[in-house]
Amino acid sequence: GRLSGGMEELSGAQLIAEALRAQNVEYMFGVVGIPITEVAVAAQAAGIKYIGMRNEQAACYAASAIGYLTGRPGVCLVVSGPGFLHTLGGMANATVNCWPLIVIGGSSDRNQETMGAFQEFPQAVRTSIYGRPGSCYIDIPGDFVNLQVNKSSVKYVECCPPPPISTAEHSAVSEAASIIAHAKQPLLIIGKGASYSRAENNIRKFVDLSGLPFLPTPMAKGVVPDNHPNCVAAARSMALLHADVIILLGARLNWILHFGLPPRFRQDVKVIQIDICAEEMGNNVRPAAMLLGDINAITKQDLALQKSLPMNYYTVFHHIRELIPKDCILVSEGANTMDIGRTMLPNYHPRQRLDAGTFGTMGVGLGFAIAAALVAKDRTPEKRVICIEGDSAFGFSGMEVETICRYNLPILIIVVNNNGIYTGLDAGSWKEMLQYGDPVTSVPPVSLLPNARYEEIMSAFGGKGYFVNTPEELQNAVKASLADKRAPSLINVMIDPQSERKKQEFPWLTRSNL
Ligand code: ADP
Ligand code: MG
Repeated sequence: GRLSGGMEELSGAQLIAEALRAQNVEYMFGVVGIPITEVAVAAQAAGIKYIGMRNEQAACYAASAIGYLTGRPGVCLVVSGPGFLHTLGGMANATVNCWPLIVIGGSSDRNQETMGAFQEFPQAVRTSIYGRPGSCYIDIPGDFVNLQVNKSSVKYVECCPPPPISTAEHSAVSEAASIIAHAKQPLLIIGKGASYSRAENNIRKFVDLSGLPFLPTPMAKGVVPDNHPNCVAAARSMALLHADVIILLGARLNWILHFGLPPRFRQDVKVIQIDICAEEMGNNVRPAAMLLGDINAITKQDLALQKSLPMNYYTVFHHIRELIPKDCILVSEGANTMDIGRTMLPNYHPRQRLDAGTFGTMGVGLGFAIAAALVAKDRTPEKRVICIEGDSAFGFSGMEVETICRYNLPILIIVVNNNGIYTGLDAGSWKEMLQYGDPVTSVPPVSLLPNARYEEIMSAFGGKGYFVNTPEELQNAVKASLADKRAPSLINVMIDPQSERKKQEFPWLTRSNL
């Protein structure tokens, strides 16, 4: 500012620059000319990084990308008329992308009386980043730029607070959870709204806890790393086509996602839509659940809920896979437990997987595990034997746990317990069922006693027994069992008794007796 009659003065340009600075604007892109050259100079003087570009269109694209990358709007500074016209592409692109952006255009001079205070700045910043992010435009009268005002009479509006965060209605969250729990082929689609909302930590936890397969849209790549085992990008079309439930996390069912319609999607696909923009809900496909709010906050709500839900096969195997050594010897039997485990638990070496085999025999697991542990003890003592059993399969030779304890073989047995053969009943339904009379006539043949404490067979003989219901308990039990290099242990993992594997594509395969 300059001094006039002892009073420090400020030009309109400086005022704009300082007001932007007060709003934490860090970057300005533009092409200077009359009347906004002074604004660029003042911005630089105020500590804003000014990048002079060759065409306003590129400047505007650059400024909008700043908004996406930092969450605070970038500014695009242009002259009136043609300069402003060139920003339209960038503004439209930012609005459609839901990226915050402020375009400042100089226009012709105005009559001084009509000049208001500079309230537009915080308003513009707020408009660009609150709710669904987008672009906004500020028009600066040319004569304002060089107008001098008394510095002491200028008041900058405080930097606007970060966007307010809202969570989804609780009933919508539990509705979504129950839809996911009953899904046969759920798919998480991660969009750039999820990326913009910086929800990566929660989304990664969510994917790990739920075991859900996910697909990123082009700009959401990396929210969960592309090399995550649950990433189904390589089978994108198949994943979209077969999903019965889709969780749409900050992505729109627009052309990028084939409008959510057949033939790329199932006609009856259930969409759980999570978005900050109410108007977006139900665009093209009527959602089965709508979670309105900030993705980061909603994924936190979801996580809290997830932890209280019974696990399914995919969750259990996901955690086991993360924790067991790559060179362990896997023994497995059961119906769903063995089948799903075969795809979810990789082998890296030959002769390290033993299962029900050609004859499809149940009851082989514990004998196989004892043999494997003896061979390992003599030849490769560092290798652990991990025996993953369905609850029914375990029952065939469960008493061999005594043998394991007698010879002190460090076998880890994991019983994936769904209270039955194929499926079972939860404790509540079991009780209800018993009210209808004699168990011999009412208990479904596939049912086994709910919540049977198989781990106590292990503790009965001096080994370590764990009863687990949640992913955390499972992780802790697996870690503790592996850390103890000598003791046999058994982890009894309760899962949702209704948790079924994905439907078989080939009907003649479903008649398997396993
Ligand atoms: P993609 O191109 O990755 O499919 P889109 O641009 O179609 O993603 O969708 C992004 C969606 O994310 C928009 O509908 C937008 O309203 C939403 N969105 C942006 N920020 C947030 C946020 N913080 N929380 C929730 N939704 C958001
Ligand atoms: Mg079972």
